[in-house]
Amino acid sequence: MISEQMAELTRSGSAIRAMFEEGGRLAAEFGRENVYDFSLGNPSFPPPDAVRRAIGDVLNGAESSYAHGYMANAGFPAVRDAVARHLNALHGTSFTSGNIIMSAGAAGGLNVVLKTLLNPGDEVIAISPYFVEYGNYVSNYGGKLVVVPANRANFQPDPAKLAAAVTPATKAVILNSPNNPTGVIYTADTIAALSRALEKRQAELGISVYVLSDEPYRELVYDGSEVPYITKYYRNTIVCYSWSKSLSLPGDRIGYVVIPDEIDDYPLIFDAACIATRILGFVNAPSLTQLAVARCLNEKTDIEAYGENRRLLCDGLKSAGFEYVLPQGAFYMWVTAPNGDDAAFAAAAKKYNILVVPGASFACPGYARIAYCVSRDVIERSLPAFEKLASELGLRKD
Ligand code: PLP
Repeated sequence: MISEQMAELTRSGSAIRAMFEEGGRLAAEFGRENVYDFSLGNPSFPPPDAVRRAIGDVLNGAESSYAHGYMANAGFPAVRDAVARHLNALHGTSFTSGNIIMSAGAAGGLNVVLKTLLNPGDEVIAISPYFVEYGNYVSNYGGKLVVVPANRANFQPDPAKLAAAVTPATKAVILNSPNNPTGVIYTADTIAALSRALEKRQAELGISVYVLSDEPYRELVYDGSEVPYITKYYRNTIVCYSWSKSLSLPGDRIGYVVIPDEIDDYPLIFDAACIATRILGFVNAPSLTQLAVARCLNEKTDIEAYGENRRLLCDGLKSAGFEYVLPQGAFYMWVTAPNGDDAAFAAAAKKYNILVVPGASFACPGYARIAYCVSRDVIERSLPAFEKLASELGLRKD
């Protein structure tokens, strides 16, 4: 018999994955070009040429003969050193390789950190709407996810509500900015206020509350927006970064965790996170991509192309009569479900072969997420379908 946790997960499945599979079914029935699949955050743009060249160089043996071997669980020292220097140049921090653990993407990094921190029954706070896997990652280690809703007017976290949710059992708060699914960037003022609120609660309760900054979308920003670097605001911050989206490498599973010297219980947490990397079965982040990304630290995916997708979609949905949050980052658009019914909205969209994910999948019913990391022509072809959908839903003014 399988475990109770897995039995439950097998029954409930993932709404986003189910939607993605539905996309395959509709494509077989109506033709790929007549299906507008906005369900999954899987970048359609290829990795930058420099990344492909770097992977080729590693494969062609430009690195040492150990390029494909086991290594220290934290990753190649030279790669960790390069990442630390890169971050210092960007953010004015003073990290060394002793603060960096290479990880299998942000998901791998979050699991390593949660394994390191949680005892059964410990609480981890997430701000809704949130990436639905957080609940699974926390329960992997017997933790309990506590959900605090973001401010519905602007989808920024509310410092007072966050402070009120901190209890003696709180171990961590997961923050994700630019945010999946809203596309909102948490402002410097918000981060400063959250930091003050958490510092106060830590002191009152005599505990350490770690902020886990989940950052797969850090570089994906529009209109010159800034994404505050949270270690500079809040001492007990651990960063989980990923190149899945910034270099279009989600299948290659590469990212890193930053564990600053200043946090409570450093270096114990660093050492334990190395062991967690080993015993969770990652052993180490993939060696080929570690070596490749270290050569491409200043490379970025085609952010202008995402910006163009954003513009087309915003213009098209606005003129069709939809309401949405203007994405400041990431590649998601958060649309208000007419009459507040996200399930009905997603079902109505499907009639026009438009696949969107209902907000309930992010613990925030009443909205739907459109992932616009698709090719531009999918967006162009989808706009007449959105107009028909708007007519059916009574949104069109003409
Ligand atoms: N966190 C957020 C907010 C995400 O949206 C995703 C993937 O979509 C992940 C983590 C996992 O990313 P990775 O591929 O780096 O594990």
